[in-house]
Amino acid sequence: MKATGTSRVYRIRHWSVKRSALLESFYNGFEKLIVTMHPVWKLIGYQRLEKPFAATEKLVKGVMFDCKMCGQCALSATGMSCPMNCPKNLRNGPCGGVRGNGNCEVEPDMKCVWVAAWEGSQRMSGGDEINLVQHPVDFRLKNKSSWLRVAKLKNATPETR
Ligand code: SF4
Repeated sequence: MKATGTSRVYRIRHWSVKRSALLESFYNGFEKLIVTMHPVWKLIGYQRLEKPFAATEKLVKGVMFDCKMCGQCALSATGMSCPMNCPKNLRNGPCGGVRGNGNCEVEPDMKCVWVAAWEGSQRMSGGDEINLVQHPVDFRLKNKSSWLRVAKLKNATPETR
């Protein structure tokens, strides 16, 4: 569904950006938990967990952030504003077309995803992460769970990398 400036999806996603500090603390705790549970995920099998994790992630983050399931979540570095909602899918800041009122040049009713990202990041303790350069999107990860990916990556050894 396309999120216009008045749609419920759009309003909820901006609600989340306004609460970026709270969501950051929640996510930090949640990430610690899923990373710690790596031995359990390994026992069950990451492959087997992919579908249920991705479905849950899609549901929760779809509602909260209008998530597009890119599989390589950047919310912690983008003030809880999903960069995949940028019509140009820009992952490293805005294009040169932001309107004077802070809205998108492609979707005039929508606040620029990166204007929202900057505002959200200013409320977060890890807000400096917005300055990190993000890797280009790897579309092979689309529709995969970024939660499971984080658990796997944070437990990776040089041999499993
Ligand atoms: S960055 Fe990717 S995983 Fe994170 S909310 Fe946006 S589409 Fe979803």
